Amino acid sequence: MPTELAPYAADETRSRGRRHDEGGSGHRSQYQRDRDRIIHSAAFRRLEYKTQVFVNHEGDLFRTRLTHSVEVAQIARTIARSLRLHEDLCEAVSLAHDLGHTPFGHAGQDALDACMKPYGGFEHNAQSLRVVDELEDKYAEFRGLNLMFETREGILKHCSKARAAQLGEVAERFLTNRQTTLEAQLANRADEIAYNNHDIDDGLRARLLTIEQLRSVSLFRRHHDEVLARYGAITPKQQRHETTRRIINTLVVDLITHTQRTLAEARIETLDDVRAQPLPLIGFSPAVRAENDELKRFLYEQLYRHHQVYRMMVKAKRVIHALFEAFIGDPKLLPPDFHAEARRLESDEGEHGRARVVADYIAGMTDRYALDEHERLFDPRRLR
Ligand code: MG
Repeated sequence: MPTELAPYAADETRSRGRRHDEGGSGHRSQYQRDRDRIIHSAAFRRLEYKTQVFVNHEGDLFRTRLTHSVEVAQIARTIARSLRLHEDLCEAVSLAHDLGHTPFGHAGQDALDACMKPYGGFEHNAQSLRVVDELEDKYAEFRGLNLMFETREGILKHCSKARAAQLGEVAERFLTNRQTTLEAQLANRADEIAYNNHDIDDGLRARLLTIEQLRSVSLFRRHHDEVLARYGAITPKQQRHETTRRIINTLVVDLITHTQRTLAEARIETLDDVRAQPLPLIGFSPAVRAENDELKRFLYEQLYRHHQVYRMMVKAKRVIHALFEAFIGDPKLLPPDFHAEARRLESDEGEHGRARVVADYIAGMTDRYALDEHERLFDPRRLR
């Protein structure tokens, strides 16, 4: 680390450590080691073929969950360095935050959650934790990636009280209303900064949004005016990029300065002080938060509910429902290893166990794998 950590930063020497003790880490910090394990996981590689708003085959230039996660990590690290937080922990949480996402973005998540309603529902944050705790299977001595407590806790960014009660220590804060580390709070905000801005970019590129439309949003208009005043006639592509880079910068700078002020006002000195706060400490100033909310509302109305996006989402949901019904009705259709696991969990937990394995299988699919599997299951002309 180039500079000394702030006293309220996560400190690995005082961490609650790993579930399975592995001792010292040699030349890497423990959180660096976590980040490296995440990068080398199968679930991380799958993010390349999973999407947020668009479906993977809609175009090669749109963000995927992989490039999204890299952008989140980049923004989080910039801010972490400025606030003297633990960059490696921020990076680990950022890179892992979407590991549990289903194929087909929000539509896939909603569909799988609906399918899983009778079995306790499906939450992608809890699934990301399940991926790193249970589903990655390649180490001889433990299941999962055996990550540090703070990394696992940060990955579990939201969680229902019912699920928190089942998850134990790692989800305790949702029951006791305590906060996670500043590093995890920061990864959460960086997520938001990243997707709002890349969705503007992708939305314009896909011609689902226009610059004129976006100018109804004050955050965009303000920075777009600045770009036009400074450069005059530049191409729409240059306008798009010059504007979003300025918006990102404004959000990042505001987050840093406002958080510094909040930390000073609340007299935060240690990580324990951070945890004891009623609300997260990392955040935007009220004025910028209002502008950011306006942008979010705009994207929700104009992009996520755009006719063209909506039609694709309905198709995606249909695929998820069909897959789930087929597998839950006849687990022998699952690949042999998942079938064996379904039988094992079913003997322990009954039908909930079977449903959990079906959800694991579907959540792990990429967009294209899900479409292909759907065809394999339902098109009799497909041999395999
Ligand atoms: Mg995300």
